[in-house]
Amino acid sequence: MDLGIAGRRAIVCAASKGLGKACAMALAREGVAVTITARGRDALEAAAAEIRAATGATVTTAVGDIATDEGRAAALAACPEPDILVNNAGGPPPGDFRDWDRDAWMRAVDANMITPILLIKATVDGMIARRFGRIVNITSAAVKAPIPNLGLSNGARAGLTGFVAGLSRQTVSHNVTINNLLPGPFETDRLRTTMEGAAKAKGVSVEEVLEARRATNPAKRYGDPAEFGSVCAFLCSVHTGYMTGQNVVLDGGSYPGTL
Ligand code: NAP
Repeated sequence: MDLGIAGRRAIVCAASKGLGKACAMALAREGVAVTITARGRDALEAAAAEIRAATGATVTTAVGDIATDEGRAAALAACPEPDILVNNAGGPPPGDFRDWDRDAWMRAVDANMITPILLIKATVDGMIARRFGRIVNITSAAVKAPIPNLGLSNGARAGLTGFVAGLSRQTVSHNVTINNLLPGPFETDRLRTTMEGAAKAKGVSVEEVLEARRATNPAKRYGDPAEFGSVCAFLCSVHTGYMTGQNVVLDGGSYPGTL
């Protein structure tokens, strides 16, 4: 299927590794010029080189913390008029809510709710004027089924999801859609970090926790980030103009509900 987005421009946030990088790679394969961001310069430049070599696409980089004004300004300076915006940032740490003070909550809400909203605000009117826009927010399966030790993530991402539910119905008549992609367990650095938290809480090794989680997934495996990237690219395609405000779960079938 031709996704029909060759020649489009995209900002993919937090994309030197993991799911963000996989989304950038999949978009680049479709001929999209991508701007990728991350805080660490070396890994970001390495990812850009890898995507260029694999796809031949134009890849620009914007170093910075996307949860800050400066980081967002750098991304927008590198790509002032994106047709596609993939919102992403590192996930908040696991833990017990009794240990989180106001600053911990503000960091989580800043990165996982307010940052995507500010980037949507900065880009959506240009998309509306050009009559094409695709916005995908990488959230978490925890939005549908909260994960007990990830309260910061459960809370902050639910806030973003509520906001998007309202806005996405106001932009779709202009061919600008906003959807959320909800990863279950994908094989990335983040997965290991969250499993380290779970292993510590249970007093077992990380490998034991990883194996147990793998065995309980209906797919009997973790997700491959490339699978996530492909779905993201499809959501950014010309074929999804009638799909907005949706929460698409990619979890190997872990979420047990019928709907
Ligand atoms: P990852 O493998 O740890 O990669 C995170 C990427 O984001 C890196 O490129 C990192 O680079 C960048 N980054 C982190 N914080 C940033 C910031 N403030 N500003 C700019 N770049 C930033 O993580 P992942 O697994 O791809 O996860 C992506 C998102 O999906 C996270 O929010 C995570 O919580 C969520 N998620 C993941 C899973 C999973 O199984 N993997 C499941 C559910 C939800 P720098 O560190 O250099 O900035």
